[in-house]
Amino acid sequence: MKTAIITGITGQDGAYLAALLCQKDYKVVGLIRSYHTINRKGLKYLGIQDQVELVECDLADLSQVMATIKEYKPDEIYNLAAQSSVSLSFRQPIGTIQFNVVSVLNILEALRMLDSPAKFYQASSSEVFGDSELPIRETTYINPISPYSISKASAHWITKNYRESYGLFGCSGFLFNHESYLRSENFFVKKVILQAIKIKKGHAETLEVGNIDIKRDFGWAPKYVEAMYLMLQQDTPEDYLICSNRSVTLRSVIECVFKELDVSMDRLVIDEKLFRPTEIEDIYGDNSKSKKQLGWEYDLSFYDVLKTLIEEELANGKD
Ligand code: NAP
Repeated sequence: MKTAIITGITGQDGAYLAALLCQKDYKVVGLIRSYHTINRKGLKYLGIQDQVELVECDLADLSQVMATIKEYKPDEIYNLAAQSSVSLSFRQPIGTIQFNVVSVLNILEALRMLDSPAKFYQASSSEVFGDSELPIRETTYINPISPYSISKASAHWITKNYRESYGLFGCSGFLFNHESYLRSENFFVKKVILQAIKIKKGHAETLEVGNIDIKRDFGWAPKYVEAMYLMLQQDTPEDYLICSNRSVTLRSVIECVFKELDVSMDRLVIDEKLFRPTEIEDIYGDNSKSKKQLGWEYDLSFYDVLKTLIEEELANGKD
């Protein structure tokens, strides 16, 4: 039986990845901040709360990370824990950069010092590419334009450096936006769906948004975590883009959700206070390397994903 450590197991991707690895008969060890504040929503929703072992570990503390790796001797480590919001990173730049960078360095230093053979996955992001020539490819120049993306770019370069300097098996997955029922409520698509349902039920008047003329490449989270697993099953470590190959405007996402729920576009309010200091105008990637080398399959239109998300939200009765 293989053992996998997942950091950030309480987040969207952590829960879906844990479910995938449980299906594959892994022993799954999830690192959490504290037993007192743990959010079990995702693990419960996927019915795996009793199948994973949850362990307190402060990823900012090298001695704790070393002790955990020594105890569990993982075959694979999926590092998903991060302050993951671009908007919040503008309000909390220091905390975002400190945690998102030091946590990665601690895990890689621990692996190096313990001479561990564990394969390491780093959750990187399309945000590191900033406003670049499209489509984004694995060879595209890294050009981060927010505190979040600066932290993810640094974490990627650290992973690459440990791979090249010490021969560690470390991969970065540059994932583009991906959504699910388990997405936090502060992210755009989830926020739009929840608020549209509230408006439909008469519990809210308007949806307030920032700049919705920008375009993003959105995908379906349960399929994206499959790519993380595949990256660590390869013989050699490489970095991959995980994306849908096309972008849509945020406005068209709202139009689709409002149409599905029969909500008038008059309920939409643009609030300039919600605009970010810097913003990527349009971004989409080319997933041909992931499809070819990893055998990863993805062919969903985001409008179909949106319909599934709305159905799941309505079925769970949330308003
Ligand atoms: P998420 O739902 O926001 O989950 C983040 C996880 O990180 C949670 O388990 C959270 O734990 C943990 N975490 C945050 N700050 C922490 C800290 N200071 N100490 C310890 N744990 C901390 O994120 P996600 O959507 O699953 O994304 C997973 C990873 O992929 C993240 O690194 C994210 O930046 C990256 N990514 C996501 C996307 C996307 O579209 N979802 C795209 C590209 C990259 P708590 O429950 O205790 O808060």
